[in-house]
Amino acid sequence: MKKVQIIDHPLAQAILTSLRDKNTNQIEFRKGLVELGRIIGYEIVRSMNIQETYVETPLGVKAKGVKIPDLEHVVIIQVLRAAMPMAEGLVKIFERARMGVISARRVEESHTKGSLSFEIESTYVRVPKIFPEDVLIIADPMLATGSTIATVLRNIAAKGNPKRKIITSVIATDYGIDRVHREDNNAEIYTVAVDPRVNEDGYIVPGLGDAGDRAFGGP
Ligand code: URA
Repeated sequence: MKKVQIIDHPLAQAILTSLRDKNTNQIEFRKGLVELGRIIGYEIVRSMNIQETYVETPLGVKAKGVKIPDLEHVVIIQVLRAAMPMAEGLVKIFERARMGVISARRVEESHTKGSLSFEIESTYVRVPKIFPEDVLIIADPMLATGSTIATVLRNIAAKGNPKRKIITSVIATDYGIDRVHREDNNAEIYTVAVDPRVNEDGYIVPGLGDAGDRAFGGP
């Protein structure tokens, strides 16, 4: 299994282009995130095990088909608040998913300008029990330094050990990907793009700006 999947579907790339555009308004931005959540969901399904099955059609004839048992064992964790639209898109694919939320705030006051390490304050953690047969999907649109996801992975560890841990993002960086893999070498990452760098304020460049502010308005 590849640890990083870049979703190069032209539709995903066209939506990402619109998200990057500073002229895209809040509503279009949120709609784009929902749509990317849905597309990433389709790509995750592609990696799930399928079982052969047969059904009888209205013509009284047996037709060969497939079922996807993993769909009954999905847990989606959204990182507040920027991941909410992405999670909405993921739930359209994983309709029976159990859901959890985690708040994560970069503690700007403790951040030294230029450092790529952020202290993360996580004051709200509501995550269901996780079972060994589960596929855990964490949604966070911007995987910049990886500090947030590392904190989320630590918070979730107490809830159980799923068979797969999948981080979904819109834009990641190599730095963030390495940080996640230092925390959990088996974590899989699904992202629409990997951008070259993180600036001294912790923003991905070229990126798309502050995903939370663009989706829900400024602080
Ligand atoms: N979070 C954001 O919203 N944007 C970035 O570029 C990095 C982290």
